[in-house]
Amino acid sequence: MKCQGYNRDLQHIGLFGGTFNPIHTGHIRIANEIREHFSLDSIIFIPAGAPPHKDRKEVIEPVHRLRMVELAIAKYNYFSVSSIEVFRDGFSYSIDTVSALQNELGDSSELYFITGLDAFLEIRTWKDADTLLTLCSFVVIQRPGHRFAELKGIDLPAMHNVSASDLGSLDRGELQRLSIPMTERYSLYLERITPCVISSTELRRLIRAGKEVKNLLPENVMSYIIENGLYHEKNNL
Ligand code: ATP
Repeated sequence: MKCQGYNRDLQHIGLFGGTFNPIHTGHIRIANEIREHFSLDSIIFIPAGAPPHKDRKEVIEPVHRLRMVELAIAKYNYFSVSSIEVFRDGFSYSIDTVSALQNELGDSSELYFITGLDAFLEIRTWKDADTLLTLCSFVVIQRPGHRFAELKGIDLPAMHNVSASDLGSLDRGELQRLSIPMTERYSLYLERITPCVISSTELRRLIRAGKEVKNLLPENVMSYIIENGLYHEKNNL
């Protein structure tokens, strides 16, 4: 299902930002699914340097998180990774990242910012959120523990014309997607995907506890974690 106004002459590029602390098979599966749903040509994973919304004690060094993303996506030629946030001084703000990448990629590229519903529910705390939502399309995906209906509770002008009943239909799976036009060119898409219960927080907990995590992480990422002694007790994580 392509989105409305899909223009074949453009490169359609997803931006998938996250702490990736660590990247897990859920992230990879989500990216593959969204790539298909939106006929994206490629997706750029963007590990955050210093994420403003996360407990910084819990977040390991960016170079490790970047390396783990590189390992996890190595076998997919349509995935790439950007270090734009990793090497930026100070906090990483999405608006700066989207503007910089749009400049770099040029007008022939149309960007889709992919984010989980949990993160999007915090959109009012993001820097220049209203402007950001007009700079590219947004794809907000469901996440277990949250409902699209919660979006009615946030102060976002774009949500005023969306009915509670449509959000309920999306939550119940009666609708696959809600498209909310933001500008002539860009939309906010609320998108159902196959539910994915994995979280990096839970993964870190399992690793600390010495539990089996084989199916939750790509094998080469697991080896990297072991070789570098990441997320174990001595790191206090
Ligand atoms: P943590 O548990 O450390 O908070 P996380 O699992 O949310 O981490 P991130 O790296 O912050 O992982 O996630 C990157 C993006 O992917 C975010 O937009 C997040 O909402 C989304 N995401 C991560 N896991 C899922 C999931 N299981 N279902 C839907 N979205 C997800």
